[in-house]
Amino acid sequence: MSDNYDIAVFEGDGIGPEIMAPTISLLEKLSEKAESYSLTFNVLPAGAAHYAETGESLPQASLNGARAADAILLSAMGLPSVRYPDGTEISPQIELRKEMDLYAGVRPVTVLPGQASPIKIPDGQTIDFVLIRESTEGLFYSQGKGEVSEDEARETLVISRKTSEKLFNFSFELARRRKKSQGTVGQVTCVDKANVFRAFAFFRDIFDKIAKGHSDIKTSHAYVDATALWMVQKPWTFDVLVTENMFGDILSDLGAGIMGGLGLAPSADIGDSNAVFQPCHGSAPDIAGQGIANPAAMILSAAMMLDWLGHERGNSEMLNHAEILRKAVYDVVVEGTTLTRDLGGTATTSEFSNEVSNKL
Ligand code: ATP
Ligand code: MG
Repeated sequence: MSDNYDIAVFEGDGIGPEIMAPTISLLEKLSEKAESYSLTFNVLPAGAAHYAETGESLPQASLNGARAADAILLSAMGLPSVRYPDGTEISPQIELRKEMDLYAGVRPVTVLPGQASPIKIPDGQTIDFVLIRESTEGLFYSQGKGEVSEDEARETLVISRKTSEKLFNFSFELARRRKKSQGTVGQVTCVDKANVFRAFAFFRDIFDKIAKGHSDIKTSHAYVDATALWMVQKPWTFDVLVTENMFGDILSDLGAGIMGGLGLAPSADIGDSNAVFQPCHGSAPDIAGQGIANPAAMILSAAMMLDWLGHERGNSEMLNHAEILRKAVYDVVVEGTTLTRDLGGTATTSEFSNEVSNKL
């Protein structure tokens, strides 16, 4: 029997629609051949251009559609020229994260052979780890609520037991999945500042308690400052790193730096029943409309979606297709003959996508 999954699609702004179209074509090509599942795509309006037209950046109907979907694909939203009256950027992706309580921000850091990483990787080592950023509390809990007087400013950091437990359980399960499918070591590192802040000692304590329920996975602790150093000095030693929101925000950009840019960086924001998959980069308005955007990060985000759905619904064919799609992108990048401009080539978005399609 074949299960159908509804995929909510936010095409977004700038290069968003240009990288979403080939991604959906690739997913269609894979799922048309599938025996156990099919996909239905439902495009929902939202974003900066939509706001400029209608005065709404994330209509209630779109939010409802996203909630009801089995998974959400999002390209990039926001444009420098369109802002809310108070001057802040239009970013419905942040509203989605809050509305659907997507607490686990998953940011894989992978360096492929030949990829322009600034890190010198010793022979026999590979950089392939995942950073998990808590995305609903931490220091960002206080966002917009800080107290500022003439002489003093204060923000609040919140770590809750409930969210931390869910976050750590998710991290251990991910390490287990990686160990099983990719033969990684199976290790989760809790990144904190437990030596200075009681809130982080609390965070670490919850981590240790949750770890007891996952005795097949190794654990370690690291302070965030040391982690920043090690991400540069020996990133090949990491498997799964889990941390607080603000630390995760900073370390994700360091991760993108290790990868040599944003063109190949996918991400997922995962909650109890919803998940959004989107590239780490923005809407790149400077190159929009030229057909030269790199769709790789978007396609790799779609592969993460197949992975998540396959895991959640126990569908091994989807897991297999996730691997096929990821490998197709990796093969094109490593071969290096059809690369987009950001990766040093001259290929267009469709030339790159066709090459990926040929590998499926
Ligand atoms: P945001 O505020 O949404 O994070 P940003 O200001 O950080 O956006 P991006 O939109 O991510 O900026 O773009 C940063 C630079 O990287 C731009 O020069 C853009 O053209 C380039 N860029 C981003 N994504 C891609 C892509 N998929 N392909 C090619 N170039 C890209
Ligand atoms: Mg940015």
